[in-house]
Amino acid sequence: MSAVTSPVSPAPSPLFSTFARADVAFERGEGAWLTATDGSRWLDFGSGIAVNALGHAHPHLVEALAGQAAKLWHVSNAFRIPEQERLAARLVEASFADRVFFTNSGAEALECAIKTARRYHHAAGQPERFRILTFEGAFHGRTLATLAAGGQQKYLEGFGPKVEGFDQVPFADHEALKAAITPETGAILVEPIQGEGGVRALPHVCLRGLRELCDAHGMLLIFDEVQTGIGRTGKLFAHEWAGVAPDILASAKGLGGGFPVGACLATEAAAAAMTAGTHGTTFGGNPLAMAVGNAVLDVVLAPGFLEHVQSIGLRLKQSMAQVVDQNPTVFETVRGEGLLLGLKCKVPSADVVAAMRAEKVLGIGAGDNVVRLLPPLIIGEDEVREAVTRVDAAAKAVAAKAAAV
Ligand SMILES: *Cc1c(COP(=O)(O)O)cnc(C)c1O
Repeated sequence: MSAVTSPVSPAPSPLFSTFARADVAFERGEGAWLTATDGSRWLDFGSGIAVNALGHAHPHLVEALAGQAAKLWHVSNAFRIPEQERLAARLVEASFADRVFFTNSGAEALECAIKTARRYHHAAGQPERFRILTFEGAFHGRTLATLAAGGQQKYLEGFGPKVEGFDQVPFADHEALKAAITPETGAILVEPIQGEGGVRALPHVCLRGLRELCDAHGMLLIFDEVQTGIGRTGKLFAHEWAGVAPDILASAKGLGGGFPVGACLATEAAAAAMTAGTHGTTFGGNPLAMAVGNAVLDVVLAPGFLEHVQSIGLRLKQSMAQVVDQNPTVFETVRGEGLLLGLKCKVPSADVVAAMRAEKVLGIGAGDNVVRLLPPLIIGEDEVREAVTRVDAAAKAVAAKAAAV
């Protein structure tokens, strides 16, 4: 184990020990900056794992939430919720989809996507087509079904039999995928860019190939855009770059800008079998969440915003490419799209994340020995410059420690 590891809170805690938490707590934020309880200021290039799309305390989001909080919090989906219908209509207008189901999290959006796909085949008289193909390195959430979909042994272990119906194939291997299709296969589920898996983009030609395969076999194509969506890559959804549309899509993370919201989007045909009573949620789509979701879209869909993400993302990637070049013992490469970037490391990525924390800049570890940079989409040149200085200093510290061993 390296000397540079993340500090873990030593105090006994009443919480489940499921998270190895860093011993720092934040009490305020503004834009891309966080202030900790000890008064220190941190540059947030993690955004709470791609959640704070508009940074911290964005005035438009604060106003939307506070305004709604003074009016109405919750009524349940037994009643019409105008803000929910409005957010759904806007998502439909801006995407491939015709219908939307709102949830509180990404995993729940995926659960809805999986159920929608299974129900589609059930209604078509082919209930045996409940199996879904997924990819190695995928991450779809921590519920029992989404764990089975993600197929990662370390997360499945000890939680009983894996939920039936998910078959995993190697990443970006078209022949293996074709060979895995059986008469029971009803859908393919994929992240256009694997997030937790290490910012691994599925080539556009593969995404188009998936669409063709699905059409040829009567399968549904499901995109998990929980991390890649809501402007993160410079388009509302990342699949737009490849020019292919799914039948079903899961969104969450950035959609609420920090308020818990998820959504399952689907075409009319895919959603048709999800009739009254087939699925439900108590909290999903409640007025507070919907007010914030609409406020997020006000900003993300405003003219020029996604172009800003594209240009500042390119700027950050080019700057980080220089940091990579200047620290060849620490970094291998920078990859990703828009503001979903990954620094592939030659030293343990956890050491780099810890060294970045010492420089008061937050990044997020990922699979494949990658550090993710997921800044708020509202960053400008100043934040890019700060990040470059701090990540470079962190890399130099890691390199110096490694050389001293
Ligand atoms: C975060 C994430 C999920 C799970 O979302 P939760 O809100 O944690 O349930 C699913 N898929 C992808 C791609 C994610 O990044």
